[in-house]
Amino acid sequence: TKHVYDFLEGNGEMRDELGGKGANLAEMTKLGLPVPPGFTITTGTCMAYLNDNRLPERLKEEVDAAIKTLESKLNKTFGSQDNCLLVSVRSGSKFSMPGMMDTILNLGLNDQSVVGFAKLTGDEHFAYDCYRRLLQMFGDVVYSIPKQRFELKIKAMEESAGVLVDQFSIEQLKELIVEFKAVYQKEGKEFPQSAREQLDVAIEAVFRSWNNPRAFTYRNLQNIDHDLGTAVNIQAMVFGNSGENSGTGVVFSRNPSTGESGFFGEYLINAQGEDVVAGIRTPEKISTLEDAMPEVYQELSGLITTLENHYHDMQDIEFTIEHNKLYMLQTRNGKRTDKAAIRIAVEMVEEGLLTKEEALLKIQPSMIETLLHAVFSEAGLKDGEAFSKGLGASPGASIGRVCFDAVKAAELHQSGEPVVLMRNETSPEDIEGMIISEAIVTNHGGMTSHAAVVARGMGICCVTGCEQLAIDEEARTVTVNDVMIEEGTMISVDGTSGVIYLGELEKVLAEEDHNIKTLLTWADEVANLQVYGNAETARDLAVAMDFNAQGIGLARTEHMFFGKERIKEMRKVILAEQDDEKREALNKLLAYQKADFEEMYAISQDKPMVIRLLDPPLHEFLPTNINEIEEIAKELKMNASRLNKQIKGLHETNPMLGHRGCRLGITFPEIYEMQAQAIIESAITLRQKGIAIVPHIMIPLVSEQGEAAMIRPKLIAVIEEKLAAANIQFEYQIGTMIELPRACLTADKVAESVDFFSFGTNDLTQMTYGFSRDDAGKFLGHYLTDGIMAHDPFTQVDEDGVGVLMDMAVKKGRQTKPDLRIGVCGEVGGSPESISFFEKIGLDYVSCSPYRVPVARLAVAQSAL
Ligand code: ADP
Ligand code: MG
Ligand code: MG
Repeated sequence: TKHVYDFLEGNGEMRDELGGKGANLAEMTKLGLPVPPGFTITTGTCMAYLNDNRLPERLKEEVDAAIKTLESKLNKTFGSQDNCLLVSVRSGSKFSMPGMMDTILNLGLNDQSVVGFAKLTGDEHFAYDCYRRLLQMFGDVVYSIPKQRFELKIKAMEESAGVLVDQFSIEQLKELIVEFKAVYQKEGKEFPQSAREQLDVAIEAVFRSWNNPRAFTYRNLQNIDHDLGTAVNIQAMVFGNSGENSGTGVVFSRNPSTGESGFFGEYLINAQGEDVVAGIRTPEKISTLEDAMPEVYQELSGLITTLENHYHDMQDIEFTIEHNKLYMLQTRNGKRTDKAAIRIAVEMVEEGLLTKEEALLKIQPSMIETLLHAVFSEAGLKDGEAFSKGLGASPGASIGRVCFDAVKAAELHQSGEPVVLMRNETSPEDIEGMIISEAIVTNHGGMTSHAAVVARGMGICCVTGCEQLAIDEEARTVTVNDVMIEEGTMISVDGTSGVIYLGELEKVLAEEDHNIKTLLTWADEVANLQVYGNAETARDLAVAMDFNAQGIGLARTEHMFFGKERIKEMRKVILAEQDDEKREALNKLLAYQKADFEEMYAISQDKPMVIRLLDPPLHEFLPTNINEIEEIAKELKMNASRLNKQIKGLHETNPMLGHRGCRLGITFPEIYEMQAQAIIESAITLRQKGIAIVPHIMIPLVSEQGEAAMIRPKLIAVIEEKLAAANIQFEYQIGTMIELPRACLTADKVAESVDFFSFGTNDLTQMTYGFSRDDAGKFLGHYLTDGIMAHDPFTQVDEDGVGVLMDMAVKKGRQTKPDLRIGVCGEVGGSPESISFFEKIGLDYVSCSPYRVPVARLAVAQSAL
């Protein structure tokens, strides 16, 4: 097998073998962009190394040959004393893991060649700066010498010299190098002087970094396979640290936080590599490069546009300028917030870069859900006490207790407290603390700092560059001006404005995002399935309608029996011995329900609303405490102890399998008849106002055709009587919920007695599995961790079991009535993973909770594409 690919041999499709970075370096080379030459060692080589604990036999030869090629291209020699070729050794796996693995720059220098390099470049200061950087990175990556050891040396020297490291004199740099070597020695290590040896151990170290704990954690969090391995990219160095006409930077082709078009990024003059990303110096905005180096800026803009047009996606680009010459060092599809993702997708369609279908497929349905989450209310923002302000690096409105390190964050999180991680800057070591935080706040660093990139990738609210924060890690306090707060204090973080507030600000739902609206309009154009909402209160109905639900798939009526006054009447209906008492109670309930339905129809207007007749078990209505029993007894003029006995007689061992659903409709026909009357009379009222209501009445829990056959004519009789009395005629439908296995098995028969089906997957799932959804929590967790089940069947449809029953019910139902309309109104109706299955078995619509309607609209579009 081939282990090494020159950038000229690879291409953008080879992410599996070359990793994302290597594949894109090759692709950019192919496009003719100014990429320093180099080659990539494959991810397969990494896995072979990790398995065998040694590098493959053939690798050395292949690397030798690749180095030869590089030398002849650049007219330099690797390891030469007076004309040395320096390279970077860069990790890069298939999926980007920002800052998770390791990179070494300036590799190839040694005690001799640094002298030659100084001569060659005519810049001794620069040459020694490169060498001290190499010693630092090499020590960290290859020998795992803590970075801090080197940083402390720099700090100490900065203090005694009174200048920062980039202003050190040549003498000071040389002294620093001596001190760095002492650090090596103290660790019992030696910096190899042979360039080739440096390279070999560096390659191994990058391979090993695949298994370092933070990379491991990151992969677990992001569900990335641990067997992919990392590639190693070996690339000729270009030097952003070679003076005032040099620099290095990071630029996004669009704003990764808001999605706004226009370049977004940062750079540092006279700096190398990690200087920008690490957030050590706060960098300049990319727009200022236009003044600083107009020609470079022009060229860079052109290349950014080229790359975006080529990849049809927002790009995250690393570049370096060496003596006014621009080099491209990396490009990838940029991580972005959900809000930005949607805006970018929509605008790229408008710009002709994407088709509508491509845009729809780029957005995960779950992203839409997070965007409908809360923001701070205007009142809250107005009254809030601002503590500090930084850069809004990742949007969100988050509240939590301040923690100054990942350990404390984990501790508080464990005890159930929301946390905000506040640090001078974050590094990959903080990853476990970051993921559990509601928000991340940093003192240093810009919009492309480690904290910002990771937070955006994970959808965590983040504010960076809060330069006023004076964090005292010893005293566990943070001070801004005169205000000091202790670790554990509640704060509110606005990731959009970058403002941090003391205390908890009030939150409200986010206002509408017109990009989501546009995207969902396109979704509706391609969808086959319709999306309905489940709603029964005026508020929920309005939300569903606002989100453009095509109808209401499940309007429960339970609450119409449970109000404080209403339940009393309902109890009389069940318990009264005299017919007239029953009648009276029913009439009161009728009045309540008519008013309720009128209100609901006024909101749903002419969109179909499926109203389900009473469903819960009888026992839920019965009084349990003696005072209530006595009160009812008094009202009904009954003997309390007799009433009590009667109630005991109605006791059920297993109410969910007991006297509920249409069984109530059979034993208490007057209840369903009252409901039918309320529905039809309210529909008549709205019809008279010119609104074309078509009532859809749904009978729950049918297991036997006979049940529907018994109930339906009674409902029709009531309806026809009321229609005749009002001298009006209009269409209405009586359907059933399919939520019992037997209903599925006999759906051809059931269909004879109804006009539509709606799958109640919650009951159907619990009845099919034979476990109660209220109790399943106790063991389902184990099933999931033990791998007995791949997912919770109450949140994602169980295709192999419940799904087979559904498929059968659809086929049998349509055997009897080819045009039978069928929907699903259980929890899984809004699950994007289930929706393609519902499309496959031929459902007409899915119905889900109002806030999931937008999510489902995108999911049904994706399942149609
Ligand atoms: P990461 O995956 O953590 O971003 P990279 O491999 O991209 O690591 O390297 C980090 C930084 O090092 C880059 O942003 C770039 O600025 C610098 N770098 C890498 N290779 C070179 C090179 N050949 N010449 C100059 N700078 C380089
Ligand atoms: Mg990089
Ligand atoms: Mg049910």
